[in-house]
Amino acid sequence: MAKCGSEVIPLPPSLKVVRDEHQEVTLLTQARQWIQKDDREPGVHASDLLDLRLAYWRNIKPTEPSEREVWLWLVGRVLHHFVLNIAGGTRNHTDTDTGAHEEFGILYSPDNFKDGMPIELKTTRAFFEPDEDKIVEDFHHYLEQLCIYMVLSNALTGFRWMLFINLRDAAHKTWPEPRCYRVELTQDQFETLEQHISATRDLFLTAQKDRNHKILEPCRAWKCGSDRCVFWGDCKPEGRWPEPRKKWTS
Ligand code: SF4
Repeated sequence: MAKCGSEVIPLPPSLKVVRDEHQEVTLLTQARQWIQKDDREPGVHASDLLDLRLAYWRNIKPTEPSEREVWLWLVGRVLHHFVLNIAGGTRNHTDTDTGAHEEFGILYSPDNFKDGMPIELKTTRAFFEPDEDKIVEDFHHYLEQLCIYMVLSNALTGFRWMLFINLRDAAHKTWPEPRCYRVELTQDQFETLEQHISATRDLFLTAQKDRNHKILEPCRAWKCGSDRCVFWGDCKPEGRWPEPRKKWTS
């Protein structure tokens, strides 16, 4: 009889286990190809309006996604596919959103629709969900994206789904758990956003036509820096560039 805690299959004492970095490189190449196979249609995309300068530079100087971006996007896409498949019935095995739509000359692809209202899913590694009075502040970036989709879909209501993959409970254990938020705009708020989105689209098009990124607002500060943005040296964002020199003590 096996003792509690003993192995069922005894492994050879000198079993050789060696990391195979060659396979990892091959896997990275294949993952990068998979991520890049759905080339973006040319035009203004809803996501471009969130960080205008990044979108500007990505159009002017396309770059390969970094290794870190490849794995982050891959994991996000896989989770997207399975969660949305459960929620929306049969989807093509490679689908991770509803495909391209266009309104006001802006391309957009919400993850799903419920009776014409957009649903957008995001996975997050955050350990805690925000308090109710801090949801807008903490999820600002994600809510901006949803509001653009709501305006482009002509819907006063939309849904922001957050899949917490490491939500921490009172016993400090972490579990995956979803949170689904209903987001509502008044007619006035909708119209104000609509005007702002149209004006931002025009500004973005002008910047690209004139090859002048300076008329665009710098991106969110946490995306910016020599170690965070590959366009740092091209963009030289006002008020942030160059970074202060590190002070060394000897
Ligand atoms: S350097 Fe900063 S402002 Fe410029 S594109 Fe990168 S993140 Fe945006």
